[in-house]
Amino acid sequence: MRALVYLGRGRIGVEERPQPTVQRATDAVVRIVRSTICGTDLHILKGDVATCSSGRILGHEGTGVVESVGAAVVGFAPGDRVLISCITACGLCPACRQGMPSHCATGGWILGNTIDGTQADFVRIPHATSSLHALPADVDDEAAVMLSDILPTGFECGVANGRIAPGGTVAIVGSGPIGLATLLTAQFYTPSRIIMIDLDDHRLEVARALGATDVVNSATGDAAAAVQLLTDGRGVDTAIEAVGVPDTFRLCERIVAAGGVIANIGVHGKPVELHLETLWSHNVTITTRLVDAVSTPMLLRTVRAHRLDPRRLVTHRFPMHDILAAYDTFGRAAATKALKVVLEA
Ligand SMILES: [Zn+2]
Ligand SMILES: [Zn+2]
Repeated sequence: MRALVYLGRGRIGVEERPQPTVQRATDAVVRIVRSTICGTDLHILKGDVATCSSGRILGHEGTGVVESVGAAVVGFAPGDRVLISCITACGLCPACRQGMPSHCATGGWILGNTIDGTQADFVRIPHATSSLHALPADVDDEAAVMLSDILPTGFECGVANGRIAPGGTVAIVGSGPIGLATLLTAQFYTPSRIIMIDLDDHRLEVARALGATDVVNSATGDAAAAVQLLTDGRGVDTAIEAVGVPDTFRLCERIVAAGGVIANIGVHGKPVELHLETLWSHNVTITTRLVDAVSTPMLLRTVRAHRLDPRRLVTHRFPMHDILAAYDTFGRAAATKALKVVLEA
C-alpha cells in the first residue's frame, strides 16, 4: 500500500509499505476512505514532537471500512463503516475508567505518532472496540472525518472546559480549523456574544459566516481594548486560547472577566508568563486538556440530526495519491486560504 511517511525534520515522502495486519486480538485493520491533515502533523514536520520518529506513517484522523478484526474485537466486523478516533482507548486502565482516555496507559494519542497512522491506504487500530465508532449510513465520510479530532477537541478543550453558558460572552483567540470547530460547537449553548480574534481577515470572514457575532483583527489594533468595548468593560466569561503561543495566552489573561475561565486548547512549545499580579483576585479558572474524544458519540448524533455541519470547515479536497500537494496547500494556509484539507481514497 502507499503511505505518507515522516522522514525527519522538514521531510515527508510517499512510500510503498506492507499492508498492516491484525497483531493482537483487540486490533482491527481499516481501509481508509477519508483522511485529513492536522496542524499537529505540521508540528511533527517541524520536529516539535519528540515521540514521533523518522519512518512513521503520519495521520490520526480518518474514516474507513473495517477490513479485518482480531478475535477479541466486539461490535465491529469486516465491511462496517467506521470513524477512527484520534485517541486510542483501551477502556480498562485507570485513565480510561476515569473518562480520560487521552492518558490511556496503552493508548492516548498514538496514531501517526508512536504507531503508524491514517494517511495511508490501510491502518491498524489497536483497542478497536473502544477506539472506533460505527458510522450510520446517513452520515457521510467527509462530515465524519472532522469528528476524528477537531470537533471533539474544540468542544471538550474549549466549550466544555470553558463552561460556555446561555447568555455568556466568549472570545476565541485563533480562527484556524480548531478555533472554528470551537465556534461551531460553542453555539450549542447560545452564548450572547462569540468574538473571534485572528490576524487574518479571510479567516475572520469565515468565522462570521460560521456564527461569530463579532470579529477582531489583532494585527491592526489593540484586541484587548476592542473586547472590553464589546463587553461593557467586563471582559469575557470564557477566553479560549486556540493558537499555542505566549502572545495569545497573554491576550486571554487580559480579556477574561472576573469569575471567568481561560480554556487553553493550543499546543504550547514555549513557557508563557502567568500574570498572577493581576489575576490573583479575579476568581479566574485556567483549564488545560488533551482531547479525550469522549464527546464523539454526542457530536455524531448532532451531525446526524443536522444540528452541526462540519463540512463547512473543508476548503480543499485531494485524491490520497496527491497527498504531497495536499501538504503543500495546507502548509501555506495564509496564501491558499486552506482550513481543512480532505484526502479521498
Ligand atoms: Zn488532528
Ligand atoms: Zn486505557
